[in-house]
Amino acid sequence: MSAPSRRAVLGAAPLVAIAGSAGAQDRAPDIMVSTWNFGAAANAAGWAARQEGGSALDMVEAGGRVAEADESNTSVGLGGLPDRDGRVTLDACVMTWAGDIGAVCALEDVVHAVSVARRVMERTPHTMLVGPGASAFALDQGFETQNLLTPRAETAWREWLKTADYAPRPNSENADWRGTPGGPGNHDTIGLLAIGADQRMAGACTTSGMAFKMAGRVGDSPIIGAGLYVDDEVGGATATGVGEDVVRVAGSHSVVEAMRHGLDPTAACRSVIERLARLRGTKVVASQVALLALDKSGRSGAFALQPGFTYAVTDAAGRTRIERAGALFA
Ligand code: ASP
Repeated sequence: MSAPSRRAVLGAAPLVAIAGSAGAQDRAPDIMVSTWNFGAAANAAGWAARQEGGSALDMVEAGGRVAEADESNTSVGLGGLPDRDGRVTLDACVMTWAGDIGAVCALEDVVHAVSVARRVMERTPHTMLVGPGASAFALDQGFETQNLLTPRAETAWREWLKTADYAPRPNSENADWRGTPGGPGNHDTIGLLAIGADQRMAGACTTSGMAFKMAGRVGDSPIIGAGLYVDDEVGGATATGVGEDVVRVAGSHSVVEAMRHGLDPTAACRSVIERLARLRGTKVVASQVALLALDKSGRSGAFALQPGFTYAVTDAAGRTRIERAGALFA
């Protein structure tokens, strides 16, 4: 896909419905998608859960837990880069085909935030717990505690402290997105969408958020409608990148609504990225936001502001491929 000029993008008209991507008819329907290359390992766990009779919710939880336990992933769970005060705080949410939702924000010392979010959904009358309340609930539910700040993450934080000029301003105003939160070096949120053997859908999103964020900052990832949305009539969507910008356009919900009105997953993601670009103009030309969608018929697609966003797709035959999303700003 050739990249349009920024001027053309910012003035672009909304997309109209288009047919599915070429070759998609030759494949088994897609049943699970996850953000980034490491989504392949998450999808493998999701596929295994499905083979064992698990639901779509079991699939996305299993996948999220793989990323959370992966120490090499610096923006999810164990090994996540801390906030500016050196504390690793996790955000996560889940959503099911039935509209059941659960979320945690700023969870500390418990690695599997996605599972705590599921417990919030299943075992409380609420939909979101934050900070000490989330951590206390996790302990009450029997989750084990551990120090999530790995030596590698602590070293990175101490290095950042030496040079940090962290005025509280939107990251999208930083000059070089490649070196800032939301750039490819430090965003790895995992968003997952799955269709179970019963054809019901679910999704999950789990992250440690932006590296070196202000204490208390929450982005898009645990916010239903922003970092994740699932509508069993239509499909689901999830987001990664600068959460502040995803929230502005209710990114995931907007993608689902675009699919409801006839766009395929790629076109739906693109329409919301273009909407964000029109809304924010030059404020997002240095920012990264990527949207990923899976519709009920088993078509997947994605689109991003900047190039480089990849995602893992597993089809109903259990084959996983890595796809590269198109981007507005090449
Ligand atoms: N979306 C995440 C957040 O804003 C971070 C990321 O995906 O890089 O917290």
